[in-house]
Amino acid sequence: MNIIHPYTTCSIVCSKRIFSWVLTKIFRPMEGEKKFVVKWSGKEFELCNLSESDSVATLKEAIHKETGVRPERQKLLNLKFKGKTPDDECQLSMLKLKPGFKIMMMGSLEEDIADASSPPEDIPEVVNDLDTEEEEVAIENREEYLAKIERRIREYKIKMINEPRPGKKLLVLDIDYTLFDHRSSAESGYELMRPYLHEFLTSAYEDYDIVIWSATSMKWIEEKMKLLGVSTHTNYKIMFHLDSLAMISIHTPKHGVFDVKPLGVIWGKFNQYSSKNTIMFDDIRRNFLMNPQTGLRIRPFRQAHLNRSCDKELLRLAKYLREIAVLDDFTCLNHRHWEKYKPPRERGEGRRARERDRERERERGGGES
Ligand SMILES: [Mg+2]
Repeated sequence: MNIIHPYTTCSIVCSKRIFSWVLTKIFRPMEGEKKFVVKWSGKEFELCNLSESDSVATLKEAIHKETGVRPERQKLLNLKFKGKTPDDECQLSMLKLKPGFKIMMMGSLEEDIADASSPPEDIPEVVNDLDTEEEEVAIENREEYLAKIERRIREYKIKMINEPRPGKKLLVLDIDYTLFDHRSSAESGYELMRPYLHEFLTSAYEDYDIVIWSATSMKWIEEKMKLLGVSTHTNYKIMFHLDSLAMISIHTPKHGVFDVKPLGVIWGKFNQYSSKNTIMFDDIRRNFLMNPQTGLRIRPFRQAHLNRSCDKELLRLAKYLREIAVLDDFTCLNHRHWEKYKPPRERGEGRRARERDRERERERGGGES
C-alpha cells in the first residue's frame, strides 16, 4: 500500500502555487502595459512591451524598431494631445489611447530619402490608404509647400485698404459661390449677391478683420467688390484683398495638381493672426488643404434666381462667428460641425458672450428696454 507522506503533499501544493505565480508573472502583461498597432505604407505592425508611463519618444523608438523609419521622419497622424501633436516627452497615459489603438504613420526610410532629386512618386502609395483628414494633415506639413509659402510671404505685395485693428480676429472669405453666384445670369450684381451679405459682414466686422481671397485676378476681385457694394459699405471695412498670385500649387493623389489658399501667407506677414484666431470660409474644401482645421466649408450659393429667397447660410454663419469670437483659441474647434456648435454658456466666456449679445440688441434698438 502506497502511503503519501504529508510532507510530500505539502511540497506538491507549494510547488503548484510557486509554478502558478511564476506563470502569472511571465505571461500576465505588466501593469499598464499597452499593445498598439502602427499602420504605415499599407502594412500593419504590432507594438508590444509599451507601458502607460512610456513617452512618445519611446513609442517612436518602438516604431523605428518595427518599421525602420527613424523617429525624426515619423509623422504620427492621429496621435493627439488636446487636439495637437504631442511632444516627445509626453507620456502615453496622457493620450488616453485604447489597447490596440491603430496609429497612422507617414514617413520615409532613409534609403528612399537618399534619392532626393526624384519627384515624390512614393507618396501616393503611402497616402492612398489614409482617409481625407489624414491626407490633409500630411500635406500641410510638407516642407516643399512650406517653402512656397515662405516665398509668397517675401514676394507677394499686399495692398492695404484698411489697417488691422488691435484685438480683432481674422476672417478670410472666398467670393465665388461663397458671397456671390458668378455664373447665373441677372440684371444686376444685387441679384447675384448671397442674401444677407451686408448684414453678415456688418456683424462679423465687430469681432474680425476681414480679408477677401479669390482665385482670380485682383482686377476682377475689385470689380466684384464694387458690384456688390462691399467696397463702399459704411458699416464695415475690408482689410485687403488677395488674388490667385498669393496661392500656391500642391499635389495630392486624390486631386492631382491644384492651387490652394494657404493662410500661412497672411500669418507670415501679420504675426497677430494665427490658427488660434483665424477662420476661413470657402465653398471648396481643397482650397484650405494647407490649413484644414481653420477652414469652414460653406454651402455653395448657386442658381441665385432660385435660391435668393431661401438661402440663410450667411445669417447662420454670422451667429456662429459671434459665438466663437469669445474663444481664445480656435484650434479646439471642428468647423465641420459648426451647425451643432454649442457656446460655452456655463463658462466665463459664455457669460461675456450673453452680455455682449444683449448690449448689441440694445444698440440696435431690438431689445425690449
Ligand atoms: Mg468659391
